Amino acid sequence: MATSLLRIPPPQDLLRPLAVPERLLLGPGPSNVPPRILAAGGRQLLGHMHPEVLQVMDEIKAGIQYAFQTRNRLTLAISGTGHCAMEAALLNLLERGDTILVATNGIWGQRAADIARRLGANVHEVLKPPGEYFTLWDIEEGLVQHKPSVLFITHGESSTGVLQPLEGLGELCHRHGCLLLVDAVASLGGAPIFMDQQEIDVLYSGSQKVLNAPPGSALISFSEQAREKMLRRKTKPSSFYLDMGWLANYWGCDGEPRRYHHTAPINSFFSLREGLALLAELGLESSWEQHKANCVQLCQGLCNLGLELFVKEEKARLPTVTTVRVPEGYDWKEITTFLMDNHAIEIAGGLGPSAGKVLRIGLMGCNSTSVNVDRVLRALQDALGRCRRSRL
Ligand code: PMP
Repeated sequence: MATSLLRIPPPQDLLRPLAVPERLLLGPGPSNVPPRILAAGGRQLLGHMHPEVLQVMDEIKAGIQYAFQTRNRLTLAISGTGHCAMEAALLNLLERGDTILVATNGIWGQRAADIARRLGANVHEVLKPPGEYFTLWDIEEGLVQHKPSVLFITHGESSTGVLQPLEGLGELCHRHGCLLLVDAVASLGGAPIFMDQQEIDVLYSGSQKVLNAPPGSALISFSEQAREKMLRRKTKPSSFYLDMGWLANYWGCDGEPRRYHHTAPINSFFSLREGLALLAELGLESSWEQHKANCVQLCQGLCNLGLELFVKEEKARLPTVTTVRVPEGYDWKEITTFLMDNHAIEIAGGLGPSAGKVLRIGLMGCNSTSVNVDRVLRALQDALGRCRRSRL
């Protein structure tokens, strides 16, 4: 018998069936995937340049235009998660030495500033404590002082639970010769946003929150002004994979015949198409109302349990992710672990500047229901009774 050359045996864990327990995902994402979207992702593959796949891509593009409320030609899905869209936005817009102003009131501003620094941009930050939002006046001061070519701001600050008002911001930026870049990963479909009317130049979001599709694709759109800035670049973007010139062609946004760029994650696109279709069927306004109503019910219930909401002003609360202070005498990790072990419900602790300070409860897309609000409140009540007892 020939002696095997293999020195590494097949891993035992891989020889067992895949284990995926049932859980209710009420953290800040991902959220549960409904059967129709799951089924779409499980369909047989087609070639990534087959006309049927190109048709699905066109439908995704139209779905994004609806969800973003934009007529922008340069609208497409990135093959990657929300971070990938964030990188794509920044690395296509910025060249070494460009100035960007980043509005930081949580982790997403911090991350955008980090990415922009890696790109060699001249980064300035305007800061607000976690739990607060920016006024037009806060932003104008930064625009006047630093004269940036791009402003980054987060619509739904999922690390703190803050909804950033966007009214007047695009107009303000344009008056100061600056483009407006908005992260709507956690807010899209859960709170109103109007890309064209609000003069947003670059907007991106993700698949795994309100759209209820698996992580792995992200939505992005560029205004004509943003497109022009990219066309004026003196240097190529530092990433081939995320080069918007290539992606625009692959997504049929430049009027040229489509060329192979990368093998798109076709099944992710099938799922994303269905997520966007569900949103289109429900209608944006109904979706916004649903998220608002369930968030109000959740906030009321949390207060009734004696918990303190982290975001004081009601209008500044993000309808998709609610934050409460970790109650005195409790360890946040014990509470989240208790919910997972005893109720099969995921909620999350804080992130970045809110780490250790808050608990985060997400109600996104099909997970944003009155039944789920009741379920998580009952589980939290149980945790508050039992986790404290375990510490005495
Ligand atoms: N921005 C915001 C506001 C987010 O909430 C998230 C995800 N929590 C991201 C960006 C990054 O998305 P992903 O984890 O899909 O890369």
